[in-house]
Amino acid sequence: MKIRTRFAPSPTGLLHIGNARAALFNYLFARHHGGEFVLRIEDTDRERSTQQAVDVIFEGLKWMGLDWDGEPTFQASRQDRHAEVVAQLMEKGMAYRCYCTAEELAAMREKARAEKRPPRYDGTWRDRDPADAPEGVPYAIRLKAPKEGETIIKDLVQGEVRVANAEMDDLILLRSDGTPTYLLAVVVDDHDMDITHVMRGDDHLTNTFRQAMIYRAMGWNLPEFAHLPLIHGPDGAKLSKRHGAQSVVEFREEGILPEALCNYLLRLGWGHGDAEILDREEQIKLFDIDGIGRSPSRMDYVKLSHLN
Ligand code: GLU
Repeated sequence: MKIRTRFAPSPTGLLHIGNARAALFNYLFARHHGGEFVLRIEDTDRERSTQQAVDVIFEGLKWMGLDWDGEPTFQASRQDRHAEVVAQLMEKGMAYRCYCTAEELAAMREKARAEKRPPRYDGTWRDRDPADAPEGVPYAIRLKAPKEGETIIKDLVQGEVRVANAEMDDLILLRSDGTPTYLLAVVVDDHDMDITHVMRGDDHLTNTFRQAMIYRAMGWNLPEFAHLPLIHGPDGAKLSKRHGAQSVVEFREEGILPEALCNYLLRLGWGHGDAEILDREEQIKLFDIDGIGRSPSRMDYVKLSHLN
């Protein structure tokens, strides 16, 4: 099997250091195994995506020396394909139209809050006769998610992770304006692009359970997953603005060399013996998923300007 990994950033801001590390790991893993590393720009959020952010991603990756294979894919250009998959799920009886209004959904959330439980879609339209559908009212399409049993993911970093299906609701696949949701688009694209390994921050773990449901509803094989523990600041809190440098551009502006940044990011969450500095060739030779640690990494670098 040829290994294919991807880096799938949303072009809505800076190239965050956590994302840059994910790109590096995906790149090294693919190169180590003689596989391919592809780039997918997840620009489905038209309001927040900008060309400037796309350029920052391209430049940042090039600066770090992470060359991708083939042309980048722009997710928004694949919306017809995403809608086609939803149509197939409808045909299979694995998805349904939901006519709930924004007010009804808000009331559901309110009720959940009052009952001190996480907000979940209550399944109003799941079993309702489609003939009851109000006329001329826009509808979303939801996945008929399994209600019983568990969804289990054998994560290559986190080990076996599981969730009771009763904890999850019928996620939206297509919004009422006809646009695909992030959850759907990622699954369809990873499947169509023959991605074998999905390596990304562990803040995506809850998405993974939901995405697994879409894979299974389509009868597709799941890729392997490797969820990377997030990068924290020196105080142990999730990396944020107050810790200083957060983006690749900021490190670059501080005069940090790309080799130094890559070496630092690699050591942040991946361990191999005592070697302090590895050049790219050695990184490719030594990198593998089993060296990725399970606990959050602490970044001890403080922006130079913060020291003044
Ligand atoms: N586009 C997502 C993000 O930037 C990542 C999606 C993924 O890696 O699956 O957070």
